[in-house]
Amino acid sequence: MRRGMIWLLGMVLSTSWALAEDPGDWQTTVQGLLADYRDAASGAADGSALRETVSVADYAARNPRCLFPDPDLKGILGGMAFRFTTDGRFGLSFGPDFLQTYRKGSTAHWTVLAHELWHFRDYLRNPQTFVQSKKDVRESVLYEMDAIHVEADFVRLLADQKRQLTSFEQFVFGSYDHDYLASVVLMLHSESQRVIFFLNRHEKELGQGPIDGPAEIQALTQMGKALVDAYAKVDKAPEIEGFGAYVDLLTFRRQWAHFVPFVLRSPETTWGQVFETYPGLAELNATITAIETRDAALWADFRRHVVAAWEEEIRATPTEAS
Ligand SMILES: [Zn+2]
Repeated sequence: MRRGMIWLLGMVLSTSWALAEDPGDWQTTVQGLLADYRDAASGAADGSALRETVSVADYAARNPRCLFPDPDLKGILGGMAFRFTTDGRFGLSFGPDFLQTYRKGSTAHWTVLAHELWHFRDYLRNPQTFVQSKKDVRESVLYEMDAIHVEADFVRLLADQKRQLTSFEQFVFGSYDHDYLASVVLMLHSESQRVIFFLNRHEKELGQGPIDGPAEIQALTQMGKALVDAYAKVDKAPEIEGFGAYVDLLTFRRQWAHFVPFVLRSPETTWGQVFETYPGLAELNATITAIETRDAALWADFRRHVVAAWEEEIRATPTEAS
């Protein structure tokens, strides 16, 4: 999903003003959104992550240079993002669908904002660490999960306030209780939380001491084969179970980019060398590529339909001002 993706280079400002004829329009909407968010989240406990997002919303409202329109951001749930550029500019960018569908009281828009405010907070806290994390497949996904957690905290707050939630927020709320947000990570970010947590935990257990690299690669290959087998058995009907088994494979392969150099203790080794030394891993790579080539469109379509249904409801939901 575009949300949370980092947008390098100065594209933001070069195209941004084409969004609205009157640049004041979108700024009014964004300032209204930020003020409404602060009201909605102001009941959060002192010292909580949500209180921090309120402070960041304050900061953004007082620093309009940190607010950008972006005509390329599509939809509502992926319709705004925290971004930074290589020349040191940073802030929140907003797409036209997101802005045009915002009305006071739209809990879905606030929920998306809560997530992006957390990225903004991470950036403000330590810009260099945050920027650096984007170059690491493990670090960036862990930052992402933190933001998802804050987003879910916000939805719980809305539920406590007895607000009417749309199906999207209900999904977030349900996932919090049922699977520790794995379903949200899956549907909104196309990542497998269990694979990420497993590999992250295993690396921590291994620590900095000596490692039997070949044995670790063999165990990794076995794990991958088990995921391929599980996917082969799962029903390919467009349901979350099949999508989850598919994303397990993709996350697994993305994350081995972190795991393999870690266990081999050789960040300079090329993938060509790794695959030559470990043909089982090369074979697994080819198998996952073949599955992706065959099924990517099927699952992209499934996900698109789910998100489209959520967004349709958000558009149709009457809010305080309508
Ligand atoms: Zn994010």
